[in-house]
Amino acid sequence: MLIRVFYVSVAVGPQTGTVTASILQQSQAYNSQHGITGVLCQGQGIYLQALEGEKGEVNRLYARIAADKRHTRVELVHCESISKRRFENWSMAHVHLSDLDPVTQVEWQTFDPYSVTGLLVLARIDELLASGRVIGATG
Ligand code: FAD
Repeated sequence: MLIRVFYVSVAVGPQTGTVTASILQQSQAYNSQHGITGVLCQGQGIYLQALEGEKGEVNRLYARIAADKRHTRVELVHCESISKRRFENWSMAHVHLSDLDPVTQVEWQTFDPYSVTGLLVLARIDELLASGRVIGATG
C-alpha cells in the first residue's frame, strides 16, 4: 500500500548549506534505493517534509528521521493512503524559503505548520512547487 506523510520539525542549530547538503545527499541515496519520493521545504528554522512510498518503507524512514539530532519537535501532520504519487519525479526535492519572493516569505512567517491541517500543508507545498524554485535530484 502506498502512503504519503507530512511532518514538521524545528532545526537544531542554523540551517546552513552544509547541513542541507548532507541531508539531501543522504536522502537522495537512501530514498532512490527504497522507492521513497518527496519534498523537503526548509527555512525560518523549520523543516516541512513530505514522504511517499510503500507503507513499511515510509514508516522505517520516518523512524530514522525522527531520531535525527539535527532537528527536534518532529510531529506528524498528516498520513494518508494514496493511489498515485504527487512527488514522483523527485527522490527528494528541496525548496528553500529564502529563495522565494519576499511576498511568499512574509506569508510563510505567519504560517504555523504545527497548527494547521495536512491538506493546508499540502496546498502550501503545492504553491512552493508551483513557484518553480525547486532543486533536487530525480529519483
Ligand atoms: P547514521 O548515519 O548512523 O547517523 C546517526 C545519527 O547521527 C543521525 O540520526 C543524526 O542525528 C546524526 N548524523 C548523521 N549524519 C550526520 C551528519 N552528516 N551531520 C550531523 N549529524 C549527522 N534521510 C533519508 O534517508 N531520507 C530522507 O528523506 C531524509 N530526510 C531528512 C530530513 C531532515 C529534516 C533531517 C534532519 C534528516 C533527514 N534524513 C533523511 C537523514 C536521516 O535522518 C538519517 O540521518 C539518515 O537516514 C542516516 O540514518 P542512519 O540511521 O544511517 O544514521
